[in-house]
Amino acid sequence: MARFIFITGGVVSSLGKGLASAALGALLQARGFTVRLRKLDPYLNVDPGTMSPYEHGEVFVTDDGAETDLDLGHYERFTGVAARATDSISSGRVYSNVLEKERRGDYLGKTIQVIPHVTDEIKDFIRIGEDEVDFMLCEIGGTVGDIEGLPFFEAIRQFSQEKPRGQCVFMHLTLLPYIKASGELKTKPTQHSVKELRSIGLAPDILVCRSEGPIPDKEREKLALFCNVRPESVVAAQDLKSIYEAPLAYHREGLDQAVLDAFGISPAPRPNLARWEDVVDRIHNTDGEVRVAIVGKYTQLEDAYKSIAEALTHGGMANRVKVRVDWVDAEIFDREDAAPHLERFNAILVPGGFGERGTEGKIKAAQFAREKGIPYLGICLGMQMAVIEAARNMADLSNARSEEFAGDIDPRDFTPVVYHLKEWIKGNAKVTRRKDDAKGGTMRLGAYDAVLKDASRVAEVYGTTAIEERHRHRYEVDIRFREQLEEKGLLFSGMSPDGRLPEIVEVKGHPWFIGVQFHPELKSKPFAPHPLFRDFVRAAKEQSRLV
Ligand code: GLN
Repeated sequence: MARFIFITGGVVSSLGKGLASAALGALLQARGFTVRLRKLDPYLNVDPGTMSPYEHGEVFVTDDGAETDLDLGHYERFTGVAARATDSISSGRVYSNVLEKERRGDYLGKTIQVIPHVTDEIKDFIRIGEDEVDFMLCEIGGTVGDIEGLPFFEAIRQFSQEKPRGQCVFMHLTLLPYIKASGELKTKPTQHSVKELRSIGLAPDILVCRSEGPIPDKEREKLALFCNVRPESVVAAQDLKSIYEAPLAYHREGLDQAVLDAFGISPAPRPNLARWEDVVDRIHNTDGEVRVAIVGKYTQLEDAYKSIAEALTHGGMANRVKVRVDWVDAEIFDREDAAPHLERFNAILVPGGFGERGTEGKIKAAQFAREKGIPYLGICLGMQMAVIEAARNMADLSNARSEEFAGDIDPRDFTPVVYHLKEWIKGNAKVTRRKDDAKGGTMRLGAYDAVLKDASRVAEVYGTTAIEERHRHRYEVDIRFREQLEEKGLLFSGMSPDGRLPEIVEVKGHPWFIGVQFHPELKSKPFAPHPLFRDFVRAAKEQSRLV
């Protein structure tokens, strides 16, 4: 049966709780344990699928087709453990489950209350798959003291009481502000935050404190005394140049040792940190820099394309180059020529997206990359835009568009090279969808197989012709235009196993031009860069040597 680690946060948000959880997961793995990480989010959306990337960052899709919080991406990138639908839950989902059961009569007429019905639902969720791993790490979103978070805190309190002693450990992340005038790190906000936790029945075993510098002994002892933890369980989390330094940095600070001590695991197995030493070496020892433009819509907020930015970093690590990413707003090209904005880049990436805004600009970016021989990676919408560009400018289908952006245009007045898919095969089953289905939950979501054409560039990049990648889209490139486009040099080099859905296109004779209908960025890891990102950055490096 798993041991449980509950990770909570206090003082302020955005302290890097997700990262601390992920790094701890990686450190436990380095000591030979198996782990699974989970996120419990207090917001009332049922899942982040319909939340704006502006507000919530990217939607991370799991193999089993769940639209989850971007923290699950961190978990996967650090542990390599594929996240599942059952690793992410929100208050919205919890309440929706409870209300559904109530409507079905499952509660036999009882009055439905937060305690026990909502808390039971949360506890059931925490328990899923508890026999599969050595450690289950559960991160509670938000900050202690938030009204929405209370049912979760109450649930983990009950949970730890129900488990045998020593099976649950609580880790609390706080901030030690530095007051310049007095040159001091302040412990009071942390003391208050722990007091708040204790008032709801939770006592942290480990304090992880974000601070600009090391924690002096005096402050460490003070924190230990007032917060009722051992001095060696006060762990400093200092700012790092790269998030991938976190496992080694936390190890140096003694986090994994403190956790194993809290569980009474002694002697603790020695860690093998070779994987992370190599990762850090690759970040710091680079030869040159490549510049990549991401031409997208949510360029003000990097979190909206979190996994893409990370996957590019991984690609850089594989090639020992620094990848400098610039975010270019696609809408600029609605008004201006693309060339002056894109000329200085060694590669162009057009990411996924929804909605018409900026799409013509993305098409121009694809055209620029294709015509100028600049490496291009189109992801999901970025592939669809590349196909429309090719249809318009290579195959003379000047009115080619996606049905997604046809609005009121008469269907006879445009060529729908990208169309709304209503039925497809998942595994052995048929999935059907109506055009007017509600926004949430009507997409081709999760892992699907694809077959790559022998001797194509992608087959060479992947080193195989059978792949599995994650999807999140409603529209598909129409196979009916395949022949016409292939004749002009746009090769359909990856297809769904039934041959109906184009999964990858590439431009013949171009140094590197690939569009993929799926999201390769979701599966890239620092210690196992995704082949497409590895080779895309390699091509960018080659391009940079040419100019
Ligand atoms: N909007 C497009 C579709 O639904 C692309 C989605 C995406 O890029 N994730 O097919």
